Amino acid sequence: MLHFVERHFSLAIIISIAILFFVYAILPAIATLGLGIGVYKRRPIRHGLAFTFDDGPDPIYTPQLLDLLKKYNIKATFFTLGSKVEKYPNLIRRMHLEGHSIGVHNYVHKSNWFRSPWAIRRELNQSASLIEQITGVRPIFYRPPWGLLNLFDFGLRKHFQIILWSLMVGDWKSKGGSDRIKKNLLQNIKDGDIILLHDSGDTFGADIDAPSFTIEALEYVFQSVLQQGYQCMRVDEMLQQKAFLPVVSLQIQSSPKQDRLGS
Ligand SMILES: [Zn+2]
Repeated sequence: MLHFVERHFSLAIIISIAILFFVYAILPAIATLGLGIGVYKRRPIRHGLAFTFDDGPDPIYTPQLLDLLKKYNIKATFFTLGSKVEKYPNLIRRMHLEGHSIGVHNYVHKSNWFRSPWAIRRELNQSASLIEQITGVRPIFYRPPWGLLNLFDFGLRKHFQIILWSLMVGDWKSKGGSDRIKKNLLQNIKDGDIILLHDSGDTFGADIDAPSFTIEALEYVFQSVLQQGYQCMRVDEMLQQKAFLPVVSLQIQSSPKQDRLGS
């Protein structure tokens, strides 16, 4: 009899934990990643694109990416980790001085599914303050690692706009190199996309050298989207835009790399 009661008691605990996890983690993911409730994933802007970069700043890849963005006069949005902001303040300063927008991606790259609401709030504030001390501007954009929010994260909307994405191409993996990233981006980019890419490869599940392929692919993708008349903007610019920007066609000289398009 006692054994029977114990078994049922354990089962009840397991079911309770499963229900709580569903409400705390899975349901918010369905609402945000699936249905886009309470978050921004894409804007209905004709010929507008927002390139966003997560997981940095990185001492090797972020400077290379900033050089490339400068070459094409493209302004981007960086979702940075507070722990790296602390380590590489000069890169944050450079991002800001070169006209990019800086958002928060947690203090460390851990999923909000397995963290308490108060730990997330404390670290988000800490990260935002670090960025504010360097740039003088307090970040208003937040992207949680892997896009995973918990139930209480909806309360963060009082202080942050939560930005997810409408296009990602698995650029955290090196397999397939820059050709795979290039092809996936150029085949799938559409009006109003918020594009998720990475300027660091040291997070869980990523390949350390993966950003080198992202940067190589972007040299090419930037040329192509500008030629197609896309306007690349920061997330804050995109959120302020009315739909249907005029189409501006830019002629950019072809380079040897361009001739490999589609190869
Ligand atoms: Zn991330």
